[in-house]
Amino acid sequence: MKNKKFFIETYGCQMNFSDSEIVASILEKEGFGSTKEIKDADMILINTCSIRDHAEQRVRKRLEFMQSLKKKNPQLIVGMLGCMAERLKKQLLEEEHVLDLIAGPDSYRELPQLLAEVESGRKAVNTLLSIDETYADISPLRYDSNGISAFISIMRGCENYCAYCVVPHVRGQERSRSADSIRKEAEDLFNRGFREITLLGQNVNSYQWDTGEGKISFAELLEQVAMVSPLLRIRFATSHPKDISYELLQTMSRYENICKSIHLPVQSGSTHMLDHMNRGYTREQYLERIATIRKILPGCAISTDIIAGFCDETEEDHKETLSLMQEVSFDYAFMFRYSERPDTLAAERYKDNVPEGVKDRRLSEIIDLQQRLSFQSNKEDVGKTFEVLIEGFSKRSVDFFYGRNSQNKVVVFPVTINKPGEYVPVKIHRFTSATLIGEAC
Ligand code: SAM
Ligand code: SF4
Repeated sequence: MKNKKFFIETYGCQMNFSDSEIVASILEKEGFGSTKEIKDADMILINTCSIRDHAEQRVRKRLEFMQSLKKKNPQLIVGMLGCMAERLKKQLLEEEHVLDLIAGPDSYRELPQLLAEVESGRKAVNTLLSIDETYADISPLRYDSNGISAFISIMRGCENYCAYCVVPHVRGQERSRSADSIRKEAEDLFNRGFREITLLGQNVNSYQWDTGEGKISFAELLEQVAMVSPLLRIRFATSHPKDISYELLQTMSRYENICKSIHLPVQSGSTHMLDHMNRGYTREQYLERIATIRKILPGCAISTDIIAGFCDETEEDHKETLSLMQEVSFDYAFMFRYSERPDTLAAERYKDNVPEGVKDRRLSEIIDLQQRLSFQSNKEDVGKTFEVLIEGFSKRSVDFFYGRNSQNKVVVFPVTINKPGEYVPVKIHRFTSATLIGEAC
């Protein structure tokens, strides 16, 4: 079994990508090697997402391809990890014969034992959720990294139970990781040349660590990580509008290396819908938070998530979403058509009663508006100068570097004597829908 090669394919959110690095670390410690070529792999692990039905269907399709690989190499081990593994558990073994192994998000430490079980000819399953697993002692293997930016998971699970969302059902109780282990991981990354860290959790503002002598809040943790070095940029995701604090905004304003970009998912602009979704804030409260952010952090980018066509959404509710988008003028947004997920409050108590055609039309109106808002936001950046962290060469041409500004916008500019990992001021001359284009100055 040892010396065998694993290949991990990851779907879904940043948290899943971060988990795949933990899995890679656990496997390497056991003597397995990683490969970037699926055809060279002795085992393929698919880290899955359940957030929308479409995400699960993509994985099901991909399993057909794994089946064809297994036909050519019957020794190949195929395992499913993550949220879909957790949601469907053993049932998957009956439905997807290609699978040898199923492991939920809290059982990755057991992977070596599960693989040994598969070696001995049995199918292996572990989908137990934990109340305290944070993988704090495992140093993630950055196997697919640019060497500049990295994720650090600071907490796991979620207990908000938004009516549409499967996450609390597949990722279990919320738990925070020790502040010490997070700070040490940040220091280690910085010493290895990394220059940007994103702290990850489903609701980072409810991070809390009890040291025994007192409690550390998210704002305090952020400050500790920002103090590692002024050359280390810090980002975080995701903030929940009901929990984002004044203290956090104050901390952000004090440290230049805490990036001025906040992802604050609104989901809907209608208070009636927000209540139906169990989000814990009203339209007015959301707008108040935005006003506070703009006051304390002028120039801070604000992005969001929006769901179109949630249960009982009326045309009036939809118009309120469009008007809120206009009012806030989001720099960027992730926009989704509502997809009913089993076991959620909405699946059990509400009717998925907005016709698919109406959901599609509302979603495209939301996307069209956001494109105009993003265009406007990029247009306003022309003529401004931003400090850009160089991440590498542009995919289109080695004559250009690409990087990001503090507001998380991608910036492309002609190469200079600098190297990836360094900061350069770049003046913006023009833009495309997703990129600012400029010149170092
Ligand atoms: N924890 C984060 C929050 O509450 O903002 C985001 C978690 S989720 C991984 C990312 C986004 O997926 C959500 O903000 C929401 O817009 C979307 N989403 C979640 N469940 C959905 C569903 N059933 N249908 C459509 N979109 C969904
Ligand atoms: Fe899902 Fe809501 Fe938790 Fe975000 S806060 S993960 S949307 S339940």
